[in-house]
Amino acid sequence: MDVVRLTLALLAKRHLDKADEVEASGPEGFEFGSKPSPYALFEDMPAHREQHDKGWITAIQSTFKELMKHLPEDARVSPGEATNIACRANSESHLFLDTFDRGYNEVIGVFPLSSMYFNHSCDPNCVYVGLPDGRLEIRTLYDVPKGAELSVSYVDLLQPREQRRRQLLLTRHFWCKCRRCSMPLSKSEDRFMDGILCRKCRRGVMIFEETKEVSDIDELMRDIEALNNEIQGKSAMCESCATEMPVTELVDVLKGAIEAYGSAFIALRERRNADAKAGFDEFLKKYDQKQVLHPYNSYLINAYIGLMQLGQMMDEPALSLTSGRQVVDRMSKSGALSPNSPELARYQAMLGRLYISVAKKKEEIPRQTPATKGLIRRYRIDGKGWIELAYNARYVALGQSHPLTVQLQQLSQTLLPRPPQAATPGPVAEAANSSGSNSADAAVAESSLEAAKKAKAKENKKPTIAQLQQTVKAAAAAAAAANGNNEEKQQE
Ligand SMILES: [Zn+2]
Ligand SMILES: [Zn+2]
Repeated sequence: MDVVRLTLALLAKRHLDKADEVEASGPEGFEFGSKPSPYALFEDMPAHREQHDKGWITAIQSTFKELMKHLPEDARVSPGEATNIACRANSESHLFLDTFDRGYNEVIGVFPLSSMYFNHSCDPNCVYVGLPDGRLEIRTLYDVPKGAELSVSYVDLLQPREQRRRQLLLTRHFWCKCRRCSMPLSKSEDRFMDGILCRKCRRGVMIFEETKEVSDIDELMRDIEALNNEIQGKSAMCESCATEMPVTELVDVLKGAIEAYGSAFIALRERRNADAKAGFDEFLKKYDQKQVLHPYNSYLINAYIGLMQLGQMMDEPALSLTSGRQVVDRMSKSGALSPNSPELARYQAMLGRLYISVAKKKEEIPRQTPATKGLIRRYRIDGKGWIELAYNARYVALGQSHPLTVQLQQLSQTLLPRPPQAATPGPVAEAANSSGSNSADAAVAESSLEAAKKAKAKENKKPTIAQLQQTVKAAAAAAAAANGNNEEKQQE
């Protein structure tokens, strides 16, 4: 659907450019940042048509056959050409966070120049940022040492290694060999992403190292069959107590979990809220409370995200709050995302807002016991803490003047722990510099909040990952631009 929409937008752009006779002069004569890239630049990008799934191609082709009837005559192209454009859009488009927070997770766009300069990594040091005027900015997530290659991620990083690799193979036509993907599973945060707990100690993850490389989709399909044969008789071992378990049994556990999660997720997408809630509850009861999956397993985290959304849709703030705490806590501890990552900041901001709204609701209660008053104060402090943490992350990842950053700064300034005569005199002007210097607040804040802050402080000082230190050749100019943007302020 996104690709169809994007292809239509590209056709419109092509039509308009043709009318204005805009031509690409190539990156040399091209003025950066002043105007959108002309359509001609997009035409130079590879379409990888033969590497797309055949069923997908057929569906796209017949969709465009129908859609062309509705376009103005001089803007029409053949379904075959439209499909080429769709393939190119599918291979070269980028997803990034919606600038205006309209409730979409992501928006999509094609940026020919950025594709030339930035490689993918599942442990990226940069992030795509959509600006309100439709431009794309690339910002570093932490201090990147001189000479390190700048990378961005083309996929959701909170998913198992094999899933990311398959997605990259299907959409980008390469088998990811980034630092995170090449590390032994036992040493990587990826062991959690589809991690199953040891039946004996219920602490360690069962590890089965799998190092197959595939180069195209046909091979991937063949590989799935081969893999089924290959795991017969093999064992996985607990990282903690060395207990062994047949891999086939682990595969069955995971299949069951994915199925249970999947049906709840479909219910959520179809807005069958009660079914979705029942589905997620059951899934968590079976796989989280009974300690079958590792707490940082991406399906568990995604189930809590589902419940967090359901709590909001069903007007059950308590459900949202308890699920939101799980989301933020597990997401940050899993190590799958950088502490400044916009995804994490998004959930931190949501959690902060939830705390504040629950506090406000409680304040409406006419006669408050001292216990209620204490709770309200605590919720306000926690809410403010999460908002500030999210604000600090966005300051780095999205930039000081980005609408989503400004939104949190304004919110943070209105948030004072009640009663206001307590520790903080005057408005919270220090919000920009500190989330930890206000000792009265920090002392009361929850431990996971503290842990998150510490993790982030550590990350900001993180030295380079040795493997990233391949010198950038072509990206020198782009690197300078991205670093320049970030110099305006690095946390602290
Ligand atoms: Zn990777
Ligand atoms: Zn064990």
